[in-house]
Amino acid sequence: MQDNKYRLAVVVGHSKLLPGAKGIEPISAYEYFYNCALANLMKGFAAGHGCNLNIFLRDNLTIRETYLGVSKWGPDCAMELHFNAANEKARGTETLYGDQNPLSAEFARVVQDGICKLFTRDPKTNRGIKKLVEGDRGVTNVNILKCPSILIEPFFGDETEEMNAADFWEKAFRGIMTALMAIGVSFASAIFKTQQDMQIKLAKIEATMPTKEDISVLNAKLFQHETRILTVELSCRKLTKSL
Ligand SMILES: [Zn+2]
Repeated sequence: MQDNKYRLAVVVGHSKLLPGAKGIEPISAYEYFYNCALANLMKGFAAGHGCNLNIFLRDNLTIRETYLGVSKWGPDCAMELHFNAANEKARGTETLYGDQNPLSAEFARVVQDGICKLFTRDPKTNRGIKKLVEGDRGVTNVNILKCPSILIEPFFGDETEEMNAADFWEKAFRGIMTALMAIGVSFASAIFKTQQDMQIKLAKIEATMPTKEDISVLNAKLFQHETRILTVELSCRKLTKSL
C-alpha cells in the first residue's frame, strides 16, 4: 500500500569494494563513502519534510538487481549519486539522464540548475544535462525504472580549486534539496497529465455502458491522484520554506 508522500529513491553509486573515484582534501573520501553520508543527510532532511526518501546501495548487486529493488519500492523519482574525476584540471557540474521517461530530462534540468546555483557555476563550469545513449557509461542505470531517473555528477573530486570551495558539503546538500523542491512541482504536473488521461479514459468507458463497479474503481483512482498532487505540493512548500 503506497502512502501519499513524495517518494524519492536515492541510489549510491559504486560499492564498498569498488568505491569509485577518490576525492582529494577536504573531502578525502571515495565516491561511495562520500555519497553514503550525503544520502543519509538527505534522508534525515526529507523525513522532516513530507518526502519519503529511501537509500539503495549497490553492494553485492548488479546494476539491474539494484534497480529492480528500487522499482519494487515504487518511487516517483530516482537519482543516483556520484562525483566526477578526470585529469585533476576539469571542473563543473553535470547531470545525466535516460529517455525511458519523458520527464527525466526535465528532472535532470531542475537538479542541474539547483546544484549550479549553489555552486555559482558559470557557463563553462555548468556542463549541462546529458542524455546517455547506448554505449555510454551509466546508460543502464538511468533507463531501468519507469519513473524519471537521473545520475548526478555535481563536482570533480580531483580538482583542488573545486574542492577548496567553501561549505562544500553544505552546498552539495542544499543544491540537491532545493532541486528536489522543484522536482516535486514537475512531478505534480506529470500526475496532473495522468489524471487528464484518466478522465478521457473514463469518458470513453462511460460511452460504452460500463458497470457501476468499473466507474467507481476509476473514480477512486482519480481521487488518489488528486490527493497525491496536494501532498506533493504541500511537502514542496515546506521544503522551500526551510531552505
Ligand atoms: Zn561514479
